[in-house]
Amino acid sequence: MTLYKVLHYPHVLLRKKGTPVENFTDSLREFIKNFIATMYEFDGGGLAAPQVGVSKRIFVVDFKPAFESDSFERKEGDFKVYDKDHKEIPAVFPMVFINPELVEMSEPIKVNWEGCLSFPNAESHNTSRFLNVEIHAQNENGEKFIVKSSHLYASVCFQHEYDHLDGIMLVDRWNKTSFTESDVIADIKDFENDPAERKRMKKIKVTEASKIKFDFL
Ligand SMILES: [Zn+2]
Repeated sequence: MTLYKVLHYPHVLLRKKGTPVENFTDSLREFIKNFIATMYEFDGGGLAAPQVGVSKRIFVVDFKPAFESDSFERKEGDFKVYDKDHKEIPAVFPMVFINPELVEMSEPIKVNWEGCLSFPNAESHNTSRFLNVEIHAQNENGEKFIVKSSHLYASVCFQHEYDHLDGIMLVDRWNKTSFTESDVIADIKDFENDPAERKRMKKIKVTEASKIKFDFL
């Protein structure tokens, strides 16, 4: 198992737009396996490929902890998955989204708990999102599927991860008067320079995925 280095803001590759995946190869599936392990290693609910320096339209999510937590109450039918024939299928996590399209968004909301692995330690500010989303995507084998969500955590997470594919960062969504760029960067630097974090990073050994010539690029 390889763990990839998660890039922190303001790394330049976080701003690069992802291109669609055309070749669903074994090396793509191997990348996704390692990518999912990376999300778990850093305790993320989601991770987008540009965050490890791979500019492709791929993200992974695991909502299980949020679905089981008291802070994100579940309602009947708030998260449904369908196959390409619109037949409902079980939601299985981790879930892989390749070439996703957000086809419908409604019911505007504001959230102040959104976090990002590219902004470790940074304060959270209000972001404007939608409660209801419909997303069409392909899995790691190229099979199409659809998710309809009106679950607060899942819907916000989809919009957050989707933003990464277009190089959009949390700071772009925050009210410009509520923070300063230098404070955000200082918080991230404090995290990186924390001795406990440095020790942990040495121990887990991460690979820079941006330096690998994958056959699906
Ligand atoms: Zn993020």
